[in-house]
Amino acid sequence: MAAHCPQVTEIEAKSILRKQKKVESWFVSRYGMNLYRGCSHNCAYCDGRAEKYQVEGEFGRDVAVKKNAIEVLQRELDPQRRRKPLKRGFVFVGGGVCDSYQAIELRYESTRQALELIARYDLPVHMLTKSTQIERDFELLRRIHDRSRAIISMSFSSADDAISAHFEPGASRPSHRLKTLAKFKKAGFPIGMYLMPALPFITDSPAKIAETVQSAKDIGIDFIIFGGLTLKAGRQQHHFYAVLRDYDASLIPKYEDIYSSNPWGEARKDYYYSIQNTFAEIASSLQIPVRIPPFIWHDFVDETDRVVIILEHIDYLLKLKKRTSSYGYAVYSISQVQEPLQNVRQQLHNMKGIGPSTARLICEILDTGSSAFYEWLLLGKKPLQK
Ligand code: SF4
Repeated sequence: MAAHCPQVTEIEAKSILRKQKKVESWFVSRYGMNLYRGCSHNCAYCDGRAEKYQVEGEFGRDVAVKKNAIEVLQRELDPQRRRKPLKRGFVFVGGGVCDSYQAIELRYESTRQALELIARYDLPVHMLTKSTQIERDFELLRRIHDRSRAIISMSFSSADDAISAHFEPGASRPSHRLKTLAKFKKAGFPIGMYLMPALPFITDSPAKIAETVQSAKDIGIDFIIFGGLTLKAGRQQHHFYAVLRDYDASLIPKYEDIYSSNPWGEARKDYYYSIQNTFAEIASSLQIPVRIPPFIWHDFVDETDRVVIILEHIDYLLKLKKRTSSYGYAVYSISQVQEPLQNVRQQLHNMKGIGPSTARLICEILDTGSSAFYEWLLLGKKPLQK
């Protein structure tokens, strides 16, 4: 399936910088942005196609450019023009309804100009793309990384170029993405792989996952985040099934079996558990962290965000081990606190979802910046004797 030539519309944006209610622990980010709407990479599974995102036109062909994006972003970032200063945190550039380095970026350079602003205002950045075009901004990203931090991540459904050509027709081939990541790694940037979505019965077998994880290990990846495919009824599912039929029509009934009627487009839970476990075992055998390790973000987030990220990571890691966790409730309570956590440390155990042992763990993070239990779960480091 060939990539389309993008049809471009210029639109005006009211805002660019998306402030999250709490830090996003998958990307360790506080802020996000979509400089375009629509994406000529045209991945068959792209969630941006779903009706809920209201991307107009034919997804994969029509791309809207926010032509005043840089002017708006400058206003949003400039401390002189803000009533309240921005809380320090990573700006996530990627994901959502567009890839920041799709073909149209060559002409409009919105991503490059946004990075110039991010560099000027000294914010850390987390990039996620499927395009080797990110190399164009190598020096600019190095400037950001030298002063604060730039994490360079790429997403993959596998490391198989032929599968990618069918399902991700407009994106750079995985072998090229890996070479780009290796260049950034060699220059001292932290690099990550988002191995998502694993495509059921195509890239989710133990052998295929192992091949992809090994290819990341070979270039010195710092972390891999894994996820399965969601298929929302409507445009997303309809388009995906058309591309899948063309690839191997015999897989359609298998998909219909695991994606029966979930309103969020999720597959059966037992399916997700099984591929998560496969991935976790492979990553563990190669000693690859399955969440962004703290040495990458620790110094660039504030105390509350550090606690939230660590608790959410622990929650995920415990569930991977099929253990129960109430850390999700604790995160909710912590993210409602408006003052520095140090001021309320004596009251932590009275908050919803925070028992005495979670309160002790939070105090350990406040005092030391990390938690021995967390580092053991994520990095396999031996916990300190208490
Ligand atoms: S690169 Fe990302 S945003 Fe673009 S089509 Fe693929 S999944 Fe969607």
